[in-house]
This record gives sequence, C-alpha cells and structure tokens, in this order.
Amino acid sequence: MDLAMWDVGYLVASILFIMGLKKLGHPRTAPTGNLYGATGMLVAVVVTIAQMNFGNVDNFILIIAGLSTGGIIGYVMAIRVQMTGMPEMVALFNGFGGAASALVAASEVFRRINSGEIPAGLELQVAWIAIGLSALVGWMTLTGSLLAMMKLKGGVEIFGTWYRTPTWGPEWLNYVKGIFLIGIVGLIYMTMEEPENSTYVIGIIALSCILGILFVLPIGGADMPVVVSLLNSLSGIAAAFTGFIIGNNVLIIAGSMVGAAGLILTNIMCKAMNRQLIDVLFKSFGGSDKEQVTRTKVGSDPEEVAMICDGISKCVIIPGYGMAVSQCQHQVREFADILEENGCEVKYGIHPVAGRMPGHMNVLLAEASVPYEKLIEMEEINSEMSDCDVALVVGANDTVNPAARTGEGPLAGMPIIDADKARVVVFVKRSLSVGYAGVDNDLFYDDKTMMLFGDGKKMMTELLSAMKES
Ligand code: NDP
Repeated sequence: MDLAMWDVGYLVASILFIMGLKKLGHPRTAPTGNLYGATGMLVAVVVTIAQMNFGNVDNFILIIAGLSTGGIIGYVMAIRVQMTGMPEMVALFNGFGGAASALVAASEVFRRINSGEIPAGLELQVAWIAIGLSALVGWMTLTGSLLAMMKLKGGVEIFGTWYRTPTWGPEWLNYVKGIFLIGIVGLIYMTMEEPENSTYVIGIIALSCILGILFVLPIGGADMPVVVSLLNSLSGIAAAFTGFIIGNNVLIIAGSMVGAAGLILTNIMCKAMNRQLIDVLFKSFGGSDKEQVTRTKVGSDPEEVAMICDGISKCVIIPGYGMAVSQCQHQVREFADILEENGCEVKYGIHPVAGRMPGHMNVLLAEASVPYEKLIEMEEINSEMSDCDVALVVGANDTVNPAARTGEGPLAGMPIIDADKARVVVFVKRSLSVGYAGVDNDLFYDDKTMMLFGDGKKMMTELLSAMKES
C-alpha cells in the first residue's frame, strides 16, 4: 500500500464519523450512528496498524497488548455498568480520552528531546505550542473528569463530602486559576526557549492536572450537565492537538468533531439551565441559605391515586433520575397504556437535564417502547400544563422544583417543567429528601400534591394493580 491508500482509509473513517454523528441526532437513528462511529474507529485503527513498520516486532506486540487490555476492560465495563452508572462512565471515558491524547503528546515530546530531533524556528514554535496545549487540555480533562465522576457518584467518604458540594468556590479561587493558567503559558514559552529541557513539560503537566481539579471543584448540583459536556468537548480538542503533533489527519478530524459536538451540547445544556458558560465556570452558584425547616407530609396510597386517575382526560408523566434508579420505565408505560385505554391523553414531559446524562430519560423510555412522539420537550409541555388533570412525577425533583423560579440557590434561574400548574400532582419517590442540587421542594407540601412514598418500581407496580382493580 502506498501513502495514498492510507489516506483513502482515513478518508473512509472520517466519512463514517461524520455520517455517525449525523445519525446520532435522532433517537431512532442513534444506534446506527453508533455503529457507523465504531466502524469508523475500527477502520482508523486497522489503517494505523497496517501503516506501521512490521520490522519492529516489539512495537507490534506492545500495540496488540494495549489494544487487547483496553478492549477487555472496556467490554467488561460496558457489560457490567448499570443504567444509573452510565453518567459516571461517560465522565470517566471523557477523562480517558483526554489522558490518551495527552500521553501520546508527552511520549512524542520526550522522544524528540531524547533523540535530539528538535526542529528550529517557526516549526519549533508551532510544534511546542501544540504540545503544550495538548498537555494543558488533555491533563485538565483527565483530572477534571475524575472529579466530575466522583461528584456524580456521590463522593468517596474517606475524603469527606466537601468536594461534591456545588457551593465550595470562594471568589479568590478564580485568581488562583488565573495564576495557574498564566504559569502554564509561561512554561509553554520556556519550552520554546529551552526545547531540550523536559522539566518545563513536566511542569505543564503538573499545573494542568491541578487546574482541572480547580475548575471542576466549585461546579456542582444542577450545573453538572454543563461541565460534563464541556469536558467531553475538551477531550476532543486535546485529540485534535495531538493529531497535529504526530501528523495524523484522522485524529485531527475526529478530535475536531468531538470538540465541536461537545461544544454544541454544552451550549444546549447552558440554554436548558438558563446559564452563561462563563458564569458556570467562574461563578459559584451559592447554596440555598434558606433555613432548613423540618416539615412533614402524609403519604398517599396507590388506591387513592388510582381513584383520582379514574376518568381524567389528560395526564403528563414527568420522569427523573429516580425512574432510572428504580428501572420502572416499563411500569410507567403500562400505567400510560391503562389511562389511554380509558380515553385519557398521556404525554411525557422531558426536561433536558432530567436524570444524570443528556437524553437519559429518552433512552429509558425508548427501552420501554414508548413512542417517541409522546416525549414532549419542556417548553412545549409547559404550554399545556394548566390543562393537565394529573402530573405524575416519577423520581424527578430538581426539574420540577419551583424554587428554581427564585433568584437564589443552586437551581436559581433553571427553567423547570411546570408540574405545579396541573390540577393534581403525584410524586413517586422514597422520601421528602432533596434531589441532586440539594434544594428543598415546596411542591411536596402543596395541598394538591399526593406523595407515593417508596421505590419507583414498587410503587408503580402497586399503582398498576390498584388501577386494574378500580
Ligand atoms: P433529582 O436528582 O432532582 O431527583 C431525583 C429523585 O429521585 C430524588 O429526589 C430521589 O428522592 C428520587 N429517587 C431516587 N431513587 C429512587 C427510587 N429508587 N425510587 C423512586 N425515587 C427515587 O432528579 P431530576 O431528574 O429531577 O434532576 C436531575 C438533576 O441532576 C438536576 O439537578 C441536573 O442538573 C442534575 N444532573 C443532570 C445531568 C444530566 O446530564 N442530565 C448530569 C449531572 C447532574 P428519594 O431519595 O426521596 O427517593
């Protein structure tokens, strides 16, 4: 194969990536999109291996060992992960993506320093700036993503829980971040002044790792979707820089696409949260300083809720993270089927950040064969909420919390699904406890609200039996 053949292989891989990304834009075509993307990656890997010098057997063995180890770990993780663990896994993979790019860039710079292959003039400046930026973005993505993963998981108790709070982010932390950033730019400059001195590169790596942690530390609560999608974008940008360093076109194309897609998602998430990216990154949305008052609410039973649902003409189901935890999407769908058989119109109100990852609810409801047309986006469903007889909130909390309409606390300004505008609101959750953002929900205590306390699957199953009997 001559050089043109490799380029054709990379071109095929790039086309598959672009087609895959296009298909990922709709839930129905998304599985095919995934397949295209995976095939594109396989083509890129095969072409890269085929391009190698087969004379160097050690290299070949190392690559096969790396591919099989990574492949086995990835396979086992994908098989074992629970649906509720997916967000953490996505965060971890973002971090691995950034680290992989940063490691390739680091090995290339150390190889060049050790072999004395140091270019001069403009070529040196371009190469060393790309190496510095790849290290900055890649290592920041790794440490930031690991912290994001822990925040999503709920923290490791031996470290305490302080780092998962959305509020820990004093004003002065922004100055510290600024100093670190200036330090890294200074070190990149020094790598160009003394290109054979690897200490500066190690300095960039160390400062970037700390900067990643400092950036993610103050972000939490309802702003986590923004930071996760931004980290996803950064992992792509790191790959593009690395592609540039090692002269690999497919890495530049794939990295740029991940970077751009991640930025689009970040923008969508910012809009959904009614936030500016700059505010998410540099302002810590303070925790609610509302006094925590201990209140109680008597729970309802499934028979009571079934009676209320008898003869209603419109029901909006609002799913949230608790539906993913209890995996009750099939029972939810069955509940909707019964209502529809009785002539009730049923729709699902989908908040863009419901659950713990973008599209979380869509995936679960698609698994339960809920027709896609019934999943209605927040803005549209809100225009119908005042005509709704019953809003059934299954494991959602922050995304229907009226506290978001006030100007205070971690949820401040986030648009919500107006469940409180329905005639009756039914919550299915285990207790009166808060959601991810840690903000108390006044809607629980409203007179028109009925609480079905218990695990989502258990309560939905009991509600179904009660509906069938009534
Ligand atoms: P929330 O996290 O606000 O609330 C979920 C509720 O589910 C909890 O209050 C909990 O109450 C209940 N729950 C937990 N387990 C069960 C169970 N087994 N059965 C029944 N209920 C259960 O969820 P929302 O979906 O409303 O909001 C998502 C939040 O997550 C937002 O703040 C969002 O910003 C954040 N987030 C979203 C991401 C995304 O990309 N979508 C990523 C990261 C964070 P109880 O304990 O009483 O049962």
